[in-house]
Amino acid sequence: MSKEKNIFVTQPFLPPLEEFNAYVEQIWENKWLTNNGELHQQLEKALAHYLGVPFVSLFANGTIALLTALQALDPDGHRGGEVITTPFTFVATPNALVWNKTKPVFVDVEDQYCNLDPAKVEAAITDKTVAIMPVHVYGNPCDNEALQAIADKHGLKLIYDAAHAFGVRKSGESILNYGDLSVLSFHATKVFNTFEGGAIVSHSEDMKRHIDDLKNFGFRGEERVVLPGINGKMSEVHAAMGLAQLRYMDEIFEKRRSICHKYMVLLDSVKGVEYIVPQDDVESNAAYFPVFINADYPVSRNKLYDKLKKNGIYGRRYFYPLVSDFEPYKEEGEKLDLPVAHRKSEQVICLPLYPDLPLEDVERICKVIKNI
Ligand SMILES: *Cc1c(COP(=O)(O)O)cnc(C)c1O
Repeated sequence: MSKEKNIFVTQPFLPPLEEFNAYVEQIWENKWLTNNGELHQQLEKALAHYLGVPFVSLFANGTIALLTALQALDPDGHRGGEVITTPFTFVATPNALVWNKTKPVFVDVEDQYCNLDPAKVEAAITDKTVAIMPVHVYGNPCDNEALQAIADKHGLKLIYDAAHAFGVRKSGESILNYGDLSVLSFHATKVFNTFEGGAIVSHSEDMKRHIDDLKNFGFRGEERVVLPGINGKMSEVHAAMGLAQLRYMDEIFEKRRSICHKYMVLLDSVKGVEYIVPQDDVESNAAYFPVFINADYPVSRNKLYDKLKKNGIYGRRYFYPLVSDFEPYKEEGEKLDLPVAHRKSEQVICLPLYPDLPLEDVERICKVIKNI
């Protein structure tokens, strides 16, 4: 076998070092390293503008942002309650619910986008349900209208784990404007990264102030603590990374979309390999390229996964296992009926996708998939 280079599922975009360094020099001059510094304030404004949302609160990571979003929507009302969420997600989603003393109730997903199925959500509501936490899986929007209608009808909070959904628009509008709050992750593996980082998108000045109090120990001014907050602040050097990267995002999305297009063209006629086509009115962020290996394919998903690895191609099985099969959730999970989520989890491989992935590499990957 020829010695070909390894291709990994993702590779972070790094802005030109001198542009990052220019911000770092500013930090050295200001001698202001964290606590709502100049770059932090700049990045919040720039992100709100770029994303088309009213208010952004930056965080140290997406998980603390999830924890804080749940706290922000009335923690007392949440104590002991149930929150309906998806098993087809990263484990931070249910973990954040448990840390907020609420019980995750896993509901099955729909077949097309692997997002929460609204009909099954409504059927799972009990008198203990306090909120719904859907995930825009792979950046494809949930059925937001249906979920909002259910939340309104039953008086539930609607908090989106939008960790995959940076920059996604539907009918020209940011999908981060749906629901009560949306939570973003800027982890190194996400489309927009600040090494580690995250944010909450909110829709009123009062809610933003509440969130900003919560992430800064509950301090308001020097001598007052108004609530029991946490330390969720983003530092200046992380904000610098965000500012240096933000000006490249249009270019990054263009490159990602053209790679997805290439995958779709090359895999279109391959029997047993399905992929997700973005909805017509959706401007996709091309965050992931999942393929689903069904019974018409000559070998199993895991055999293909291993064969890709042998050829130096490292896909990832997002999301396998389902979070409802992990130890902390298994006992509850085994009682649940989650056929679609289980099937999708058994079929999925996310193929390598990052802005600098050469199109020749996409051809090499598709050749392995075709010539099984
Ligand atoms: C990445 C991710 C998170 C966690 O974000 P961190 O910034 O890594 O804490 C939460 N939910 C989903 C769906 C994610 O993909």
